[in-house]
Amino acid sequence: MSNIKEREPIVAIATPFGESAIGVVRLSGTGLLEKVGRFIRTKSSIKPRYAHRFELVDEQGKPIDDGILIYYKAPNSYTGEDMLELFLHGNPFILKTALELFVRNGIRLAQPGEFTKRAFLNGKMDLLQAEAVADLIGAKTQLAHESALRQLKGELSSYITPLREKLLELCAYVEADIEFSEEDIPTLTREQILRTLLEVKDRIDTLLFTVKKGEYLRRGINLAIVGKPNVGKSSLFNALLGKDRAIVTSVPGTTRDFLQESLNLEGIPVNLIDTAGIRESSDEVERIGIERSLQKLREADLVLFVVDASSPLESIDLEVYNLIEETNHIPVLNKIDLGINEEVVKRFPDGIKVSAKTGQGLEELKERVLQKVGVFGADSMHVYLSVRHADLLQRAKEKIEETVELFQRMELSPEVLSLYIREALHYLEELVGTIATEDVLGSIFSRFCIGK
Ligand code: GDP
Ligand code: ZN
Repeated sequence: MSNIKEREPIVAIATPFGESAIGVVRLSGTGLLEKVGRFIRTKSSIKPRYAHRFELVDEQGKPIDDGILIYYKAPNSYTGEDMLELFLHGNPFILKTALELFVRNGIRLAQPGEFTKRAFLNGKMDLLQAEAVADLIGAKTQLAHESALRQLKGELSSYITPLREKLLELCAYVEADIEFSEEDIPTLTREQILRTLLEVKDRIDTLLFTVKKGEYLRRGINLAIVGKPNVGKSSLFNALLGKDRAIVTSVPGTTRDFLQESLNLEGIPVNLIDTAGIRESSDEVERIGIERSLQKLREADLVLFVVDASSPLESIDLEVYNLIEETNHIPVLNKIDLGINEEVVKRFPDGIKVSAKTGQGLEELKERVLQKVGVFGADSMHVYLSVRHADLLQRAKEKIEETVELFQRMELSPEVLSLYIREALHYLEELVGTIATEDVLGSIFSRFCIGK
Protein backbone atom coordinates (compact mmCIF):
# COMPACT_ATOMS: atom_id res chain seq x y z
CA MET A 1 0.00 0.00 0.00
CA SER A 2 1.85 3.04 -1.15
CA ASN A 3 0.92 6.26 -2.79
CA ILE A 4 3.57 6.02 -5.46
CA LYS A 5 2.31 2.89 -7.13
CA GLU A 6 1.53 3.44 -10.81
CA ARG A 7 -1.93 2.42 -11.83
CA GLU A 8 -3.38 2.18 -15.30
CA PRO A 9 -6.10 4.75 -15.96
CA ILE A 10 -9.70 3.61 -15.67
CA VAL A 11 -12.93 5.23 -16.82
CA ALA A 12 -16.61 4.90 -15.96
CA ILE A 13 -19.89 6.72 -16.26
CA ALA A 14 -20.63 7.77 -12.69
CA THR A 15 -24.27 8.74 -13.05
CA PRO A 16 -27.29 6.50 -13.69
CA PHE A 17 -28.18 5.51 -17.22
CA GLY A 18 -30.91 7.61 -18.79
CA GLU A 19 -31.62 11.19 -19.76
CA SER A 20 -30.69 13.78 -17.19
CA ALA A 21 -29.45 17.36 -16.96
CA ILE A 22 -25.90 16.29 -16.33
CA GLY A 23 -23.98 13.06 -16.75
CA VAL A 24 -20.57 12.48 -15.23
CA VAL A 25 -17.68 10.56 -16.74
CA ARG A 26 -14.98 9.78 -14.24
CA LEU A 27 -11.35 8.86 -14.88
CA SER A 28 -8.53 7.90 -12.55
CA GLY A 29 -4.95 6.72 -12.99
CA THR A 30 -1.35 7.70 -13.38
CA GLY A 31 -0.53 10.42 -15.90
CA LEU A 32 -4.10 11.00 -16.88
CA LEU A 33 -3.76 14.36 -18.65
CA GLU A 34 -0.96 13.11 -20.92
CA LYS A 35 -3.23 10.27 -21.99
CA VAL A 36 -6.50 12.05 -22.62
CA GLY A 37 -5.49 15.72 -22.82
CA ARG A 38 -5.76 15.81 -26.60
CA PHE A 39 -9.50 15.12 -26.44
CA ILE A 40 -10.12 18.00 -24.08
CA ARG A 41 -10.11 21.62 -25.22
CA THR A 42 -10.03 24.43 -22.69
CA LYS A 43 -9.34 28.15 -23.05
CA SER A 44 -6.71 28.20 -20.30
CA SER A 45 -4.39 25.47 -19.14
CA ILE A 46 -5.99 23.03 -16.72
CA LYS A 47 -5.42 23.76 -13.04
CA PRO A 48 -6.14 21.17 -10.35
CA ARG A 49 -9.40 21.67 -8.47
CA TYR A 50 -10.69 24.42 -10.74
CA ALA A 51 -13.86 24.16 -12.74
CA HIS A 52 -12.98 24.56 -16.42
CA ARG A 53 -15.35 24.98 -19.32
CA PHE A 54 -14.23 22.48 -21.95
CA GLU A 55 -15.07 20.84 -25.22
CA LEU A 56 -14.74 17.10 -25.66
CA VAL A 57 -13.52 16.14 -29.12
CA ASP A 58 -12.74 12.82 -30.79
CA GLU A 59 -9.56 11.65 -32.59
CA GLN A 60 -10.43 13.79 -35.62
CA GLY A 61 -11.12 16.86 -33.51
CA LYS A 62 -14.87 16.50 -34.02
CA PRO A 63 -16.84 17.87 -31.04
CA ILE A 64 -18.76 15.35 -28.92
CA ASP A 65 -20.09 17.68 -26.26
CA ASP A 66 -19.16 20.64 -24.12
CA GLY A 67 -19.32 20.84 -20.36
CA ILE A 68 -17.37 21.47 -17.18
CA LEU A 69 -14.42 19.48 -15.95
CA ILE A 70 -12.53 19.26 -12.72
CA TYR A 71 -9.02 17.90 -12.60
CA TYR A 72 -7.53 16.51 -9.38
CA LYS A 73 -3.81 15.97 -9.15
CA ALA A 74 -2.43 12.97 -7.22
CA PRO A 75 -2.46 12.50 -4.31
CA ASN A 76 -5.18 15.06 -3.67
CA SER A 77 -8.16 13.20 -5.07
CA TYR A 78 -10.73 10.63 -4.03
CA THR A 79 -8.59 7.76 -5.31
CA GLY A 80 -5.27 9.38 -4.50
CA GLU A 81 -4.41 9.26 -8.21
CA ASP A 82 -4.79 11.83 -10.96
CA MET A 83 -8.50 12.14 -11.58
CA LEU A 84 -10.77 13.83 -14.07
CA GLU A 85 -14.46 14.39 -13.67
CA LEU A 86 -16.23 15.43 -16.84
CA PHE A 87 -19.66 16.95 -16.42
CA LEU A 88 -21.40 16.44 -19.74
CA HIS A 89 -24.98 16.61 -20.88
CA GLY A 90 -26.91 13.72 -19.43
CA ASN A 91 -27.65 12.04 -22.71
CA PRO A 92 -26.84 8.30 -22.68
CA PHE A 93 -25.65 8.54 -26.29
CA ILE A 94 -23.16 11.34 -25.50
CA LEU A 95 -21.89 9.57 -22.40
CA LYS A 96 -21.48 6.32 -24.27
CA THR A 97 -19.63 8.07 -27.10
CA ALA A 98 -17.27 9.68 -24.59
CA LEU A 99 -16.69 6.38 -22.83
CA GLU A 100 -15.92 4.60 -26.10
CA LEU A 101 -13.51 7.35 -27.10
CA PHE A 102 -11.47 6.81 -23.96
CA VAL A 103 -11.62 3.03 -24.15
CA ARG A 104 -10.44 3.14 -27.80
CA ASN A 105 -7.49 5.16 -26.61
CA GLY A 106 -6.15 2.85 -23.97
CA ILE A 107 -8.21 3.67 -20.90
CA ARG A 108 -9.70 0.59 -19.30
CA LEU A 109 -13.34 0.36 -18.17
CA ALA A 110 -13.55 0.47 -14.39
CA GLN A 111 -14.90 -2.47 -12.45
CA PRO A 112 -17.61 -1.94 -9.85
CA GLY A 113 -16.16 -0.10 -6.88
CA GLU A 114 -12.75 0.22 -8.46
CA PHE A 115 -12.39 3.92 -7.71
CA THR A 116 -13.04 3.27 -4.04
CA LYS A 117 -10.85 0.19 -4.10
CA ARG A 118 -8.01 2.36 -5.37
CA ALA A 119 -8.73 4.93 -2.69
CA PHE A 120 -8.28 2.09 -0.21
CA LEU A 121 -5.17 0.68 -1.87
CA ASN A 122 -3.65 4.16 -2.02
CA GLY A 123 -4.25 4.69 1.67
CA LYS A 124 -6.94 7.37 1.30
CA MET A 125 -9.30 5.40 3.54
CA ASP A 126 -9.33 2.15 5.45
CA LEU A 127 -11.43 -0.82 4.53
CA LEU A 128 -14.17 0.03 7.01
CA GLN A 129 -14.59 3.43 5.43
CA ALA A 130 -14.52 1.98 1.93
CA GLU A 131 -17.33 -0.36 2.90
CA ALA A 132 -19.26 2.57 4.29
CA VAL A 133 -19.21 4.22 0.86
CA ALA A 134 -21.28 1.36 -0.54
CA ASP A 135 -23.53 1.42 2.52
CA LEU A 136 -24.05 5.14 2.14
CA ILE A 137 -25.07 4.80 -1.49
CA GLY A 138 -27.37 1.89 -0.67
CA ALA A 139 -28.84 3.29 2.55
CA LYS A 140 -32.62 3.21 2.40
CA THR A 141 -33.60 4.45 5.85
CA GLN A 142 -32.53 7.38 7.94
CA LEU A 143 -30.91 5.11 10.50
CA ALA A 144 -28.97 3.20 7.86
CA HIS A 145 -27.89 6.47 6.29
CA GLU A 146 -26.69 7.93 9.58
CA SER A 147 -24.71 4.88 10.54
CA ALA A 148 -23.04 4.66 7.10
CA LEU A 149 -22.09 8.30 7.31
CA ARG A 150 -20.56 7.81 10.74
CA GLN A 151 -18.61 4.83 9.55
CA LEU A 152 -17.39 6.76 6.54
CA LYS A 153 -16.09 9.44 8.86
CA GLY A 154 -14.11 6.73 10.57
CA GLU A 155 -16.15 6.16 13.70
CA LEU A 156 -15.79 2.42 13.64
CA SER A 157 -12.11 2.68 12.72
CA SER A 158 -11.60 4.96 15.69
CA TYR A 159 -12.81 2.19 17.98
CA ILE A 160 -10.61 -0.43 16.38
CA THR A 161 -7.36 1.49 16.07
CA PRO A 162 -6.67 1.89 19.80
CA LEU A 163 -7.29 -1.82 20.27
CA ARG A 164 -4.78 -2.68 17.58
CA GLU A 165 -2.28 -0.33 19.15
CA LYS A 166 -2.75 -1.87 22.57
CA LEU A 167 -2.16 -5.37 21.26
CA LEU A 168 0.81 -4.26 19.20
CA GLU A 169 2.37 -2.61 22.19
CA LEU A 170 1.78 -5.71 24.25
CA CYS A 171 3.48 -7.81 21.58
CA ALA A 172 6.42 -5.43 21.50
CA TYR A 173 6.91 -5.74 25.25
CA VAL A 174 6.54 -9.50 25.32
CA GLU A 175 8.88 -9.93 22.37
CA ALA A 176 11.46 -7.54 23.78
CA ASP A 177 11.33 -9.58 26.93
CA ILE A 178 12.23 -12.69 24.97
CA GLU A 179 15.16 -11.14 23.16
CA PHE A 180 16.71 -9.08 25.88
CA SER A 181 15.65 -10.94 28.96
CA GLU A 182 19.06 -10.42 30.58
CA GLU A 183 19.19 -6.70 30.00
CA ASP A 184 17.72 -3.82 31.86
CA ILE A 185 14.57 -2.93 29.93
CA PRO A 186 11.13 -2.32 31.31
CA THR A 187 8.96 -5.43 31.36
CA LEU A 188 5.32 -5.86 32.09
CA THR A 189 4.04 -7.69 35.09
CA ARG A 190 1.67 -10.60 34.56
CA GLU A 191 -1.10 -8.43 35.94
CA GLN A 192 -0.43 -5.69 33.42
CA ILE A 193 -0.48 -8.15 30.55
CA LEU A 194 -3.68 -9.70 31.80
CA ARG A 195 -5.32 -6.34 32.35
CA THR A 196 -4.52 -5.16 28.84
CA LEU A 197 -5.88 -8.35 27.32
CA LEU A 198 -9.09 -8.12 29.31
CA GLU A 199 -9.46 -4.47 28.46
CA VAL A 200 -9.24 -5.21 24.76
CA LYS A 201 -11.68 -8.07 25.16
CA ASP A 202 -14.15 -5.81 26.95
CA ARG A 203 -13.97 -3.21 24.21
CA ILE A 204 -14.61 -5.87 21.59
CA ASP A 205 -17.55 -7.11 23.64
CA THR A 206 -19.02 -3.64 23.62
CA LEU A 207 -18.61 -3.47 19.87
CA LEU A 208 -20.20 -6.86 19.43
CA PHE A 209 -23.11 -5.59 21.47
CA THR A 210 -23.91 -3.18 18.69
CA VAL A 211 -24.41 -6.21 16.45
CA LYS A 212 -27.16 -7.19 18.86
CA LYS A 213 -28.62 -3.73 18.56
CA GLY A 214 -28.87 -4.06 14.81
CA GLU A 215 -30.45 -7.44 15.29
CA TYR A 216 -32.94 -6.01 17.78
CA LEU A 217 -33.93 -3.38 15.26
CA ARG A 218 -34.75 -6.10 12.78
CA ARG A 219 -36.36 -8.79 14.93
CA GLY A 220 -37.25 -7.03 18.18
CA ILE A 221 -36.19 -7.69 21.76
CA ASN A 222 -37.69 -10.86 23.23
CA LEU A 223 -38.89 -9.84 26.67
CA ALA A 224 -40.46 -12.56 28.82
CA ILE A 225 -42.48 -11.97 31.99
CA VAL A 226 -42.20 -14.71 34.62
CA GLY A 227 -43.16 -15.20 38.23
CA LYS A 228 -45.35 -17.41 40.36
CA PRO A 229 -49.12 -17.27 39.74
CA ASN A 230 -51.04 -14.18 40.74
CA VAL A 231 -48.12 -11.77 41.18
CA GLY A 232 -49.51 -9.66 38.34
CA LYS A 233 -47.70 -10.86 35.21
CA SER A 234 -50.73 -10.49 32.96
CA SER A 235 -51.55 -7.15 34.52
CA LEU A 236 -48.02 -5.96 33.85
CA PHE A 237 -48.20 -7.31 30.31
CA ASN A 238 -51.36 -5.32 29.71
CA ALA A 239 -50.04 -2.23 31.44
CA LEU A 240 -46.89 -2.20 29.30
CA LEU A 241 -48.96 -2.65 26.16
CA GLY A 242 -51.55 -0.19 27.29
CA LYS A 243 -54.38 -2.56 26.46
CA ASP A 244 -56.20 -5.63 27.74
CA ARG A 245 -54.84 -8.53 25.81
CA ALA A 246 -54.03 -10.97 28.61
CA ILE A 247 -56.81 -12.24 30.80
CA VAL A 248 -56.41 -11.09 34.35
CA THR A 249 -58.09 -13.08 37.09
CA SER A 250 -57.55 -13.65 40.75
CA VAL A 251 -57.52 -17.42 40.24
CA PRO A 252 -53.91 -18.64 39.99
CA GLY A 253 -52.91 -20.30 36.74
CA THR A 254 -55.25 -18.55 34.30
CA THR A 255 -52.60 -17.88 31.69
CA ARG A 256 -52.25 -21.46 30.55
CA ASP A 257 -49.84 -20.83 27.76
CA PHE A 258 -47.87 -17.82 26.74
CA LEU A 259 -49.18 -14.68 25.07
CA GLN A 260 -47.12 -12.51 22.80
CA GLU A 261 -47.60 -8.91 21.67
CA SER A 262 -45.43 -6.24 20.10
CA LEU A 263 -44.48 -3.04 21.79
CA ASN A 264 -42.40 -0.11 20.57
CA LEU A 265 -39.82 1.19 23.05
CA GLU A 266 -38.04 4.31 21.76
CA GLY A 267 -38.09 2.95 18.25
CA ILE A 268 -36.93 -0.51 19.25
CA PRO A 269 -39.52 -3.24 18.72
CA VAL A 270 -40.14 -5.44 21.74
CA ASN A 271 -41.83 -8.84 21.65
CA LEU A 272 -43.51 -9.01 25.03
CA ILE A 273 -44.24 -12.52 26.27
CA ASP A 274 -46.53 -13.35 29.19
CA THR A 275 -45.64 -16.84 30.38
CA ALA A 276 -47.84 -19.24 32.27
CA GLY A 277 -47.04 -19.43 35.95
CA ILE A 278 -44.00 -21.63 35.94
CA ARG A 279 -44.49 -24.18 38.69
CA GLU A 280 -45.17 -27.81 39.29
CA SER A 281 -48.56 -28.79 38.05
CA SER A 282 -50.57 -32.00 37.97
CA ASP A 283 -52.86 -30.59 35.29
CA GLU A 284 -51.79 -31.91 31.87
CA VAL A 285 -52.86 -28.83 29.90
CA GLU A 286 -51.16 -26.56 32.35
CA ARG A 287 -48.01 -28.66 32.21
CA ILE A 288 -47.77 -28.25 28.45
CA GLY A 289 -48.20 -24.52 28.92
CA ILE A 290 -45.40 -24.52 31.43
CA GLU A 291 -43.09 -26.45 29.14
CA ARG A 292 -43.74 -23.96 26.34
CA SER A 293 -43.16 -21.10 28.73
CA LEU A 294 -39.79 -22.52 29.68
CA GLN A 295 -38.96 -22.71 26.00
CA LYS A 296 -39.91 -19.05 25.57
CA LEU A 297 -37.78 -18.24 28.54
CA ARG A 298 -34.73 -19.79 26.90
CA GLU A 299 -35.31 -17.65 23.82
CA ALA A 300 -35.70 -14.43 25.76
CA ASP A 301 -33.11 -11.65 25.56
CA LEU A 302 -34.33 -10.33 28.86
CA VAL A 303 -36.62 -11.64 31.59
CA LEU A 304 -38.87 -9.63 33.88
CA PHE A 305 -39.05 -11.58 37.11
CA VAL A 306 -42.20 -10.45 38.91
CA VAL A 307 -42.87 -10.77 42.62
CA ASP A 308 -45.62 -9.38 44.80
CA ALA A 309 -43.90 -6.59 46.71
CA SER A 310 -46.74 -6.23 49.17
CA SER A 311 -46.48 -9.67 50.77
CA PRO A 312 -43.70 -11.95 52.02
CA LEU A 313 -41.81 -14.04 49.51
CA GLU A 314 -42.75 -17.70 49.25
CA SER A 315 -40.48 -20.60 48.47
CA ILE A 316 -42.11 -20.84 45.04
CA ASP A 317 -40.96 -17.29 44.25
CA LEU A 318 -37.41 -18.40 44.85
CA GLU A 319 -37.90 -21.61 42.89
CA VAL A 320 -38.94 -19.59 39.87
CA TYR A 321 -36.07 -17.20 40.51
CA ASN A 322 -33.63 -20.11 40.47
CA LEU A 323 -34.76 -20.88 36.93
CA ILE A 324 -33.92 -17.43 35.64
CA GLU A 325 -31.17 -16.23 37.95
CA GLU A 326 -28.52 -16.88 35.32
CA THR A 327 -30.36 -15.10 32.53
CA ASN A 328 -30.32 -11.40 31.78
CA HIS A 329 -33.16 -10.32 34.03
CA ILE A 330 -34.79 -7.49 35.98
CA PRO A 331 -36.60 -8.16 39.27
CA VAL A 332 -39.95 -6.39 39.18
CA LEU A 333 -41.55 -5.69 42.56
CA ASN A 334 -45.23 -5.34 41.70
CA LYS A 335 -48.32 -4.22 43.63
CA ILE A 336 -46.52 -1.47 45.54
CA ASP A 337 -49.86 0.31 45.73
CA LEU A 338 -50.74 -2.33 48.34
CA GLY A 339 -47.63 -1.63 50.38
CA ILE A 340 -43.98 -2.61 50.38
CA ASN A 341 -42.61 -5.58 52.24
CA GLU A 342 -39.06 -4.72 53.30
CA GLU A 343 -37.93 -8.35 53.11
CA VAL A 344 -38.74 -8.38 49.40
CA VAL A 345 -36.79 -5.19 48.80
CA LYS A 346 -33.84 -6.58 50.72
CA ARG A 347 -33.85 -9.78 48.70
CA PHE A 348 -34.01 -7.86 45.39
CA PRO A 349 -32.27 -4.53 46.02
CA ASP A 350 -31.91 -3.82 42.31
CA GLY A 351 -35.57 -4.53 41.66
CA ILE A 352 -37.85 -1.94 40.09
CA LYS A 353 -40.87 -1.05 42.16
CA VAL A 354 -44.05 -0.83 40.11
CA SER A 355 -47.75 -1.07 40.25
CA ALA A 356 -49.36 -2.65 37.23
CA LYS A 357 -52.61 -1.33 38.59
CA THR A 358 -51.73 2.38 38.94
CA GLY A 359 -48.95 2.51 36.35
CA GLN A 360 -46.42 3.72 38.89
CA GLY A 361 -42.80 2.84 38.03
CA LEU A 362 -43.54 1.65 34.51
CA GLU A 363 -41.48 4.37 32.81
CA GLU A 364 -38.48 3.50 34.92
CA LEU A 365 -39.00 -0.15 34.06
CA LYS A 366 -39.02 0.61 30.34
CA GLU A 367 -35.80 2.58 30.65
CA ARG A 368 -34.16 -0.26 32.52
CA VAL A 369 -35.25 -2.70 29.83
CA LEU A 370 -33.43 -0.75 27.13
CA GLN A 371 -30.40 -0.38 29.35
CA LYS A 372 -30.31 -4.07 30.14
CA VAL A 373 -30.22 -5.08 26.50
CA GLY A 374 -27.47 -2.56 25.89
CA VAL A 375 -29.38 -0.15 23.73
CA PHE A 376 -28.84 2.85 25.98
CA GLY A 377 -25.76 1.89 27.95
CA ALA A 378 -23.14 4.54 28.64
CA ASP A 379 -20.99 2.76 26.11
CA SER A 380 -23.71 2.44 23.54
CA MET A 381 -22.28 3.23 20.14
CA HIS A 382 -23.85 4.34 16.96
CA VAL A 383 -22.08 2.03 14.58
CA TYR A 384 -23.69 -0.99 13.08
CA LEU A 385 -21.49 -3.89 12.17
CA SER A 386 -21.79 -6.06 9.12
CA VAL A 387 -21.46 -9.83 9.24
CA ARG A 388 -17.85 -9.49 8.13
CA HIS A 389 -17.08 -7.10 10.96
CA ALA A 390 -18.87 -9.14 13.59
CA ASP A 391 -17.20 -12.33 12.44
CA LEU A 392 -13.69 -10.91 12.67
CA LEU A 393 -14.39 -9.25 16.01
CA GLN A 394 -15.78 -12.50 17.36
CA ARG A 395 -12.65 -14.36 16.29
CA ALA A 396 -10.37 -11.76 17.80
CA LYS A 397 -12.34 -11.97 21.02
CA GLU A 398 -12.22 -15.75 21.16
CA LYS A 399 -8.48 -15.69 20.57
CA ILE A 400 -8.00 -13.26 23.42
CA GLU A 401 -10.20 -15.32 25.70
CA GLU A 402 -8.16 -18.39 24.88
CA THR A 403 -4.96 -16.45 25.51
CA VAL A 404 -6.21 -15.18 28.85
CA GLU A 405 -7.23 -18.65 29.93
CA LEU A 406 -3.91 -20.26 29.04
CA PHE A 407 -2.01 -17.33 30.45
CA GLN A 408 -3.82 -17.59 33.75
CA ARG A 409 -3.05 -21.29 33.94
CA MET A 410 0.61 -20.35 33.39
CA GLU A 411 0.70 -22.50 30.28
CA LEU A 412 2.12 -19.91 27.91
CA SER A 413 5.77 -19.22 27.34
CA PRO A 414 6.46 -15.63 26.24
CA GLU A 415 7.13 -16.89 22.71
CA VAL A 416 3.75 -18.57 22.46
CA LEU A 417 2.03 -15.69 24.21
CA SER A 418 3.25 -13.28 21.57
CA LEU A 419 2.09 -15.65 18.82
CA TYR A 420 -1.37 -15.77 20.37
CA ILE A 421 -1.61 -12.00 20.65
CA ARG A 422 -0.44 -11.62 17.07
CA GLU A 423 -3.17 -13.95 15.95
CA ALA A 424 -5.83 -11.87 17.69
CA LEU A 425 -4.24 -8.79 16.20
CA HIS A 426 -4.39 -10.35 12.77
CA TYR A 427 -8.20 -10.37 12.88
CA LEU A 428 -8.32 -6.69 13.74
CA GLU A 429 -5.87 -5.92 10.93
CA GLU A 430 -8.11 -7.78 8.55
CA LEU A 431 -11.06 -5.76 9.80
CA VAL A 432 -9.57 -2.38 8.95
CA GLY A 433 -7.80 -3.81 5.92
CA THR A 434 -4.14 -3.44 6.79
CA ILE A 435 -4.13 -7.09 5.84
CA ALA A 436 -6.48 -7.78 2.98
CA THR A 437 -6.52 -10.63 0.53
CA GLU A 438 -7.71 -10.22 -3.05
CA ASP A 439 -10.67 -12.45 -2.18
CA VAL A 440 -11.82 -10.20 0.60
CA LEU A 441 -11.38 -7.09 -1.50
CA GLY A 442 -13.18 -8.74 -4.41
CA SER A 443 -16.22 -9.61 -2.35
CA ILE A 444 -16.37 -6.19 -0.76
CA PHE A 445 -15.97 -4.08 -3.86
CA SER A 446 -18.09 -6.20 -6.16
CA ARG A 447 -21.21 -4.94 -4.39
CA PHE A 448 -20.41 -1.37 -5.40
CA CYS A 449 -21.81 0.26 -8.48
CA ILE A 450 -19.66 1.08 -11.46
CA GLY A 451 -18.10 4.51 -11.28
CA LYS A 452 -17.81 4.53 -7.50
P1 GDP B 1 -50.61 -13.38 36.96
O1 GDP B 1 -51.22 -14.68 37.40
O2 GDP B 1 -49.21 -13.26 37.50
O3 GDP B 1 -50.69 -13.13 35.52
O4 GDP B 1 -51.43 -12.24 37.73
P2 GDP B 1 -52.62 -11.32 37.16
O5 GDP B 1 -52.11 -10.25 36.31
O6 GDP B 1 -53.67 -12.21 36.59
O7 GDP B 1 -53.10 -10.64 38.52
C1 GDP B 1 -53.52 -11.37 39.64
C2 GDP B 1 -54.34 -10.45 40.54
O8 GDP B 1 -53.52 -9.40 41.07
C3 GDP B 1 -55.48 -9.76 39.83
O9 GDP B 1 -56.58 -9.68 40.69
C4 GDP B 1 -54.95 -8.36 39.55
O10 GDP B 1 -55.95 -7.39 39.45
C5 GDP B 1 -54.07 -8.14 40.75
N1 GDP B 1 -52.98 -7.20 40.48
C6 GDP B 1 -52.05 -7.30 39.53
N2 GDP B 1 -51.17 -6.26 39.58
C7 GDP B 1 -51.59 -5.49 40.61
C8 GDP B 1 -51.09 -4.25 41.20
O11 GDP B 1 -50.08 -3.66 40.80
N3 GDP B 1 -51.77 -3.77 42.27
C9 GDP B 1 -52.87 -4.38 42.78
N4 GDP B 1 -53.46 -3.82 43.80
N5 GDP B 1 -53.36 -5.52 42.26
C10 GDP B 1 -52.73 -6.09 41.20
ZN1 ZN C 1 -51.48 -14.28 34.05
